[in-house]
Amino acid sequence: MSDVAPRPPMLSVREALDFMLAAPRVPLATETVPTLAANGRVLAEAQASTIDVPSADNTQMDGYAVRADDCASGSATLRVAQRIPAGHVGQFLAPGTAARIFTGALIPEGADAVVMQEQCEASTAGLVTVRHTPKAGEWIRRAGEDITAGGVILGAGTRLRSQELGLAASVGLASLPVLRKLRVAVFFTGDELIMPGEAPGGQLPAGAIYNSNRFLLRALLENLGCELTDFGIVPDTLEATRATLRDAARANDLIITSGGVSVGEEDHIKPAVEAEGRLNMWQIAVKPGKPLAFGEVRRDGGAAYFLGLPGNPVSSFITFLLFVRPFILHQQGVAGPFDPRTFAMRADFNWPKADRRNEFLRVRTNAQGGLDLFPNQGSGVLTSTVWGDGLIDNPPGQTIAAGDMVRFIPFSELLH
Ligand code: AMP
Ligand code: MG
Repeated sequence: MSDVAPRPPMLSVREALDFMLAAPRVPLATETVPTLAANGRVLAEAQASTIDVPSADNTQMDGYAVRADDCASGSATLRVAQRIPAGHVGQFLAPGTAARIFTGALIPEGADAVVMQEQCEASTAGLVTVRHTPKAGEWIRRAGEDITAGGVILGAGTRLRSQELGLAASVGLASLPVLRKLRVAVFFTGDELIMPGEAPGGQLPAGAIYNSNRFLLRALLENLGCELTDFGIVPDTLEATRATLRDAARANDLIITSGGVSVGEEDHIKPAVEAEGRLNMWQIAVKPGKPLAFGEVRRDGGAAYFLGLPGNPVSSFITFLLFVRPFILHQQGVAGPFDPRTFAMRADFNWPKADRRNEFLRVRTNAQGGLDLFPNQGSGVLTSTVWGDGLIDNPPGQTIAAGDMVRFIPFSELLH
């Protein structure tokens, strides 16, 4: 018999994530914003097109609009009876004539093909010789070939990127209904923290470190389109931590903290959140980033979600990418799933020591189509995240030998 309590089993990355994604969504009101100001927002309602795109048949080329039948000889000479620049409407194209036409211009009635100008020879006498036998429909963009009127172009829950905004504009949508931004509060625990530029005399005092997580987490949250409130560095005391939590919960949907989530004497996050709300302290079988705190902080008439990230910067970064990002997307009303695409790639290194946790190794693609490992995988070594261009998702208990195929997740899958 042992008087040591059995260690609770660690959650897998999947189990922790599924739990977080089952949390109810914060209700977010719909607001209407100009399409020009909608980058990064989340569409509240599906959008349909009221028009065909293109709205009418038009030419893909500079050249001559013709009747294909008139050009069957492969060397037909036609009278150039009209000139149609883009934005202008031509006349009926009489048999035996051609229309000088420019990309984007509407095909005149009567014409059924465009011959590109490189295949034509114009004369000063207003004639053109067509040295090509066009097929009916050649170089014509058909009305509605991209979008037909009434068709849904963007679903509810779409995150609006450049492509979606361009598409919305192409059917004339000047404004879009979007969900209000998620309000996220952040603060940073640790009496050792100091802001860049604020070290006395420009010298980092003994025992102090720069608050790199503030820069890291803020940029991550800004990229996700959150409305941020930054409470800065909070002293390592229970009272200060509790007071900041209460403050932050008042006007925010989610509170994110860095550091202080272990169970040491200087770690006040756990007791503070427990006093102000509810907390799950998870040991997740993930490396780096084992402890993750997920819960809520009460306020009048509700609660804000709470996520406590580890203090080590690489742990913080990876925990954010694996857990916080999908949680935020889910809360923002984005239609899932949020799993990053992974790619089978060859490891060009050895990783002989298996870990019982699911490791996320910082690696970089090389010119030989394989992956190189950053030599220092320490959870405080931010250099690895700048040097690397992605992570290997290495299952628990797995060693890697050079030549093995592994699961690679490019940072681009996790940072948009
Ligand atoms: P903690 O999670 O508070 O035990 O911190 C773990 C490690 O991360 C310690 O070495 C801290 O000094 C470091 N750390 C905590 N917060 C930050 C921060 N905001 N920026 C950079 N490093 C931090
Ligand atoms: Mg600390």
